Amino acid sequence: MAVIEKTTYSPNGKHPGHEHLHPGLEIGEHPNFIVIEEVVDREAAIEDAVRQILISVGEDPDRDGLVKTPQRVARMYDELLDGYAKDLKTVVNGAYFDVEYGDGEMVVVADIKYNSLCEHHMLPFVGKAHVAYIPRDKVIGLSKIPRIVDMFAHRLQVQERLTNEIADAIVEALDPVGVMVMVEGQHMCGSIRGVKKHGANMVTTARRGEFRTNRDLRDEFYRLIGK
Ligand SMILES: [Zn+2]
Repeated sequence: MAVIEKTTYSPNGKHPGHEHLHPGLEIGEHPNFIVIEEVVDREAAIEDAVRQILISVGEDPDRDGLVKTPQRVARMYDELLDGYAKDLKTVVNGAYFDVEYGDGEMVVVADIKYNSLCEHHMLPFVGKAHVAYIPRDKVIGLSKIPRIVDMFAHRLQVQERLTNEIADAIVEALDPVGVMVMVEGQHMCGSIRGVKKHGANMVTTARRGEFRTNRDLRDEFYRLIGK
């Protein structure tokens, strides 16, 4: 008989790596019904918490318009924060290809739309990521880079770390000659509260390998993504 192991969804304050948060979700180690139980437990915990917030702000959580709000919010977080349940290996899923590409030429995937939640306020920030790398001996399937972006974006984030994590993941996956990532973001927390700088665009970059030292490569990157 299988041992039912329940894990509680309790971020531990560190930046969440898959290994910290979902010990029960290791592929192949546990039957599916356990995973389903975890989701139900997690959603129930979020529902309780949202109900508590509604009460705390002076609302009646049982009035018609709000009665299903905790459930909707719990499902929303399941979707917006599904990056915790993913890791690089499963996202890339072996989609590597050997290439004979021009020496030092770069692969660019531009205008990858993402949405994320800032970890300071749990409000959305949205924008585009642009990723370039110079392959050493392999490339990955074109669709994988947006999925890597999404995996990290769908966790509580700050834009600077999101940018670095995307770059480091490409390094880890491909051991390329160089990586450059640029992320643009509009932060809701900056536009609806505090200084209220509506529409301000925050730009962050991360450079690895050749992109650190070679300015011409960076200029080419900016030219290729139209900046
Ligand atoms: Zn914020």
